[in-house]
Amino acid sequence: MTDSIYKKACVIGDPIKHSRSPLIHNYWLQKYGISGEYSKEHILPSNLKQWFLQFAEQGYAGFNVTLPHKEIAYQLVECADDTAKAVGAVNTVWIENGIIHGGNTDVYGYLANLDAVLPHWEKQTSHAVIMGAGGAARGIVYGFIKRGIKKITVVNRTLEKADSLAKAFSSPLSQSTKVNASPWDDLNVILASADLLVNTTSLGMTGSAPLEIDLKCLHSAAIVSDIVYSPLETDLLRQARLCNLQTVSGLGMLLHQAVPGFEKWFGVRPEVDADLYTMIVADLNR
Ligand code: NAP
Repeated sequence: MTDSIYKKACVIGDPIKHSRSPLIHNYWLQKYGISGEYSKEHILPSNLKQWFLQFAEQGYAGFNVTLPHKEIAYQLVECADDTAKAVGAVNTVWIENGIIHGGNTDVYGYLANLDAVLPHWEKQTSHAVIMGAGGAARGIVYGFIKRGIKKITVVNRTLEKADSLAKAFSSPLSQSTKVNASPWDDLNVILASADLLVNTTSLGMTGSAPLEIDLKCLHSAAIVSDIVYSPLETDLLRQARLCNLQTVSGLGMLLHQAVPGFEKWFGVRPEVDADLYTMIVADLNR
């Protein structure tokens, strides 16, 4: 054991049954010989404020936040990191010097996964096209701006949401990046100049409607990434693979976003290794 003090963390959400976070964190607790546990807590929106007042008394070092609490959690933390401020959502909470801190590690998770799978992605990406304009898209726009991507186009079913997302990032922060919004019907035209295409809609997820798209307009060096991870290979990624395009699946984002929280609560920076990946894939296929 690297630490004799028993430490606890958890994930909160409503619903929470589906969460794979306990599998990830308990794998690392075991791997690094840390005395502790990571559990699931079903917290209703009406109990969220109370939870923030009580989690430390219940012995938790901190917790992850999943749907539908990420935006309210941002309001409830005493100190938010820059990413959480930019995205307006918190997915990781910890205590530092008696103060409740909140961060958003989804952005880190998405970028760390891209870096791990395709280390050259940044060099070959001038134009990134993001399908969807929800919470995940917001984080990825912010991440691309931080990485200096020159042009980002947000394409969404509801154009107003894409517009408002693009406007939110048309600030001094994004001086070297141009963020545009486009209607879904223009997708084929936009794809012709895309170097990186990202799906952040829930389309293509098990139990959701399919994502109907034709990737023939993409150039041959384009990268296709999906943040949906169930199924592991979505129809989008399958089509991209059959077109010989480079693909990045959504599971890596889920695994990498867990790293900073584990380090905050348990004091060890964990590695996203092949055994963890295999274990979660087996669980997804169950
Ligand atoms: P969200 O805020 O609810 O946004 C959902 C997006 O999907 C919106 O842009 C919405 O468009 C679009 N959409 C939903 N149904 C659609 C339909 N039938 N046709 C066209 N567009 C549709 O959700 P989110 O938090 O951004 O999450 C989006 C997806 O990413 C989810 O599947 C989630 O599981 C996944 N995700 C994965 C990870 C990971 O670690 N891999 C992390 C976060 C999220 P409108 O604006 O028109 O409604």
